[in-house]
Amino acid sequence: MNQADLAVLVRAASFAATRHRDQRRKDEAASPYINHPLALADLLVNEGDVADIDIIVAALLHDTIEDTNTTADEIEQAFGAVVRGIVEEVTDDMSLPRQMRKRIQVEHAPGLSSRARAVKLADKICNLRDVVDSPPAGWPIDRCRDYFDWAKAVIDGLRGEHERLEALFDDVYGRRP
Ligand code: ZN
Repeated sequence: MNQADLAVLVRAASFAATRHRDQRRKDEAASPYINHPLALADLLVNEGDVADIDIIVAALLHDTIEDTNTTADEIEQAFGAVVRGIVEEVTDDMSLPRQMRKRIQVEHAPGLSSRARAVKLADKICNLRDVVDSPPAGWPIDRCRDYFDWAKAVIDGLRGEHERLEALFDDVYGRRP
């Protein structure tokens, strides 16, 4: 990795940490939210063998538009149009009801770019690992199972480009409660 890539990587991690600073995950311990985008980046690099800096940076930023007041324009100014595009592809329209957002993710999966597919795979793998290892507070087993099945429906729509990540998804899906 060259110096420019290293610089943007650290800048993205710091940007995400700042934007998510007041947020917590849904697990029992209410872990800091930043653990989640860091887990995606770690998975992509160290388990998925992904070396595309735009994918790693987009993974670090993937929830900033959806869950904070960050805009797509800000991301483009700070990280460029490619990263903006990937983040926008994996951002849900939070003005829609949850069930509709979930259906749209399934419908849109086949149309995602290759880079957005990598981020989406990492997001679903990390979320399923979290559901198994530190379940969201108050989730009955049926809700955990529904979440697994919905994640699989999304991923089944984008297979064929990231064999290693897809295998990691299948591994965690095999731990369905
Ligand atoms: Zn996420």
